[in-house]
Amino acid sequence: NLYFDYCSSTPLFPSVQEVILDTYQRVYANSSSMHLPGKEANTLVNECRERIAKILGVKQREVIFTSGATESNNLALFGVANVAKNKLSHPIHIITSSVEHSSIFESAVHLSSEGVEVTFLPVNKSGIVEVTDVQRAIKKNTVLVSIIHVNNETGAIQPVEEIGSMLKSEAPGVYFHVDGVQAFGKLDVNLANMDLYTLSGHKIGGPKGIGILMVKDHVDIAPIQYGGKQESGLRPGTVNVPGVTAITEAMIVTISKQPSSIAKLKNFQNELRHHLSDNSDIIINSPSGALCAPHILNLSYPKSTSALMLNFLGKNGIHLSSQSACSSKGNKISRVIMEMCQNKQISSSSIRISLSADHSEEDIQYLLQCILGMVKSMSENKKFPTI
Ligand code: PLP
Repeated sequence: NLYFDYCSSTPLFPSVQEVILDTYQRVYANSSSMHLPGKEANTLVNECRERIAKILGVKQREVIFTSGATESNNLALFGVANVAKNKLSHPIHIITSSVEHSSIFESAVHLSSEGVEVTFLPVNKSGIVEVTDVQRAIKKNTVLVSIIHVNNETGAIQPVEEIGSMLKSEAPGVYFHVDGVQAFGKLDVNLANMDLYTLSGHKIGGPKGIGILMVKDHVDIAPIQYGGKQESGLRPGTVNVPGVTAITEAMIVTISKQPSSIAKLKNFQNELRHHLSDNSDIIINSPSGALCAPHILNLSYPKSTSALMLNFLGKNGIHLSSQSACSSKGNKISRVIMEMCQNKQISSSSIRISLSADHSEEDIQYLLQCILGMVKSMSENKKFPTI
């Protein structure tokens, strides 16, 4: 069985396993308790916060621990929007894109149902948001721009550094949030012109149930849950101390491996791209070259459907997804691919290969053999399901 769904979740790094077990065994006190074990737990959390802040190039108090990226994204959008709505007498406006992860997309749809003006920016054929479109969308009442860094379905790298510097010079009052879940460890990240940044533990060799929202000091944001003063009052609830030590270790390991991982992933991706694009029935949806993160390759075989292909590949021991695990259940058409190509057939027949640097050359060869074999047998059987 071969797993090619590293964008959905990753196994724990061995050192993360050790760290999390050790924390569960030794540091079980509540980090908000006033007794000595509680204070020790709190010190451990703050040491981790400091190490993460150093990695991200931000201040220690700007690192907020959450339960995962879905919560971080909700907190960023609702936390900023709620404050702005209360402060301003007129309706507020936020800008995002039509290819966001569902935790941003659906939060924005919800805000829109509450009277917030929302602009969902289109993308070009490569799945990339144009900086000039962001620039043109800014209005007097815009309070927040939220753009995904690396798209979780296609790997498209959004020009977030350019958008950030454009906003700082042309709309300095507008906050910029970036969902960096699929970018960390896959490309260099510079948070200088970003006000909020989202990360998730289980996408980078850490555990599920821990995430980060980086919130710069100057951001006016309110909590979206109540009942505690943890995490500077922004995220009430007992701090997940083992999760905190584990995500810290996962980030340290990810950063230390970054150069060699990127080199290996790029080779795998190029090899797949080269052999798959030789087949004229296969469409590569991911953008090419420097526009694509090294660990994702999205393709369509429009003569079939995503579900049939995943089933076929699964029976051959290849496990991957068609879209994000949060939106795949029941959705036959990928919103992200549809936004890019406006073609129902292509967007209902897409599959996403997401790679790890721990894959071997033999794994890639077997994957290629299975995909090309699948296309051949599906085209010969001529069992083309209608959509
Ligand atoms: N944002 C992106 C880009 C993702 O890929 C995911 C997970 O699929 C999330 C957010 C949500 O992450 P979590 O599982 O930590 O809530």
